[in-house]
Amino acid sequence: MSFLAEEARRVQSRLVQWRRHLHQNPEIGTEVPQTAAFVAGRLREMGLAVRDGVGGLGVVGLLEGGHTGPTLAIRADMDALKVTEETGLPFASKHPGRMHACGHDGHTAIALGTAEILASHREQLQGNVKFIFQPAEEGPGGAKPMIQDGALLNPKVDAVIGLHLGVIWDLPPGTVGVRSGPMMASTDRVEITIKGKGGHGAMPHQTVDAVAIGAQVVTALQTIVSRRVDPLEPAVVTIGSFHAGTAFNVIADTAVMQGTVRCLRESLRQRMPEHIERMVQGVATGMGAEASLNYRPGHPVLENDPEFTAFFAGVAKEVLGEGKVVTLSQPTMGGEDMSYFLNEVPGTYFFLASGNPAKGIVYPHHHPRFDIDEDVLWMGVALFAEAAWRWLDNQA
Ligand SMILES: [Zn+2]
Ligand SMILES: [Zn+2]
Repeated sequence: MSFLAEEARRVQSRLVQWRRHLHQNPEIGTEVPQTAAFVAGRLREMGLAVRDGVGGLGVVGLLEGGHTGPTLAIRADMDALKVTEETGLPFASKHPGRMHACGHDGHTAIALGTAEILASHREQLQGNVKFIFQPAEEGPGGAKPMIQDGALLNPKVDAVIGLHLGVIWDLPPGTVGVRSGPMMASTDRVEITIKGKGGHGAMPHQTVDAVAIGAQVVTALQTIVSRRVDPLEPAVVTIGSFHAGTAFNVIADTAVMQGTVRCLRESLRQRMPEHIERMVQGVATGMGAEASLNYRPGHPVLENDPEFTAFFAGVAKEVLGEGKVVTLSQPTMGGEDMSYFLNEVPGTYFFLASGNPAKGIVYPHHHPRFDIDEDVLWMGVALFAEAAWRWLDNQA
């Protein structure tokens, strides 16, 4: 085992302590003041140069190595979800309606642990390691504002790496999932308003029924994926909310729908708004209503750099063993705003499986009983630290 992996094991108890502290005190979205202060405090104790308030409440810690060289960034997200925890754990959230149900508490602890062990070897580092802690991954997005506020500059970041914990398919705990190229989907959002003409439920001929038309619109939208998109190309159009009407015997004049649109290729993503607009306008006009759309771009497709990913997979095999690293055969239609960082600089995003049926840790991300097997935390540190160390060495 490499000396960094051994040191990662030695900080395991602290990782658990940090993770539990964060777990008990979850914060949501862009409002993560205590979490950001906690992170900045630990980084300062380790002797890193800390810039806080980056793009909101983002924190950037810079570890300058003893040798000049390039800069590798390690990214973690700090935010929790509006979920009431039901795990019954002794360190469960102290705040009803807020929970680290996506494992970002673990990501933050892992990045802090990596900073700690690399800081103790800074003299030997062949460059710099920048630690980027972002808020609002679960929405409205914290990566983009941090990039706009210079998180990838001074010094300029040359490569980036990040991870996600959780129940990853049925991979045993401590298994690393890597994938080159597109790995997670773009996450655009659409709001559709159908404007008809309300009236008495008994006299439909005097009205333009927004419910009936909205229902046709939802059905017609399903044919975009089945009939407009190449069957070999993944895409999702989901209408997740539909609001219309006030009473059983009144014809609604307005229907409002919201949906998510996901793709794995940017060129298809660019064509989706037109497909949707046409379909909605065609159906609405044909039925005598008016329609308006509000299409809001979300996170781009998350694409891993093939060269960096191959390098990382090699490191992971050495750190954890050949059998602990799998190449994911499929991407996921889930989204991640890590994609903004990977659009700016090459790098990789990987999964570290932390589900463990033997310990009852089987619930998916965002579930009120979501948990992580803490025994994998040190592995995250070992992977980050070893990858950073070797990558800097390779560039020297
Ligand atoms: Zn999540
Ligand atoms: Zn997440």
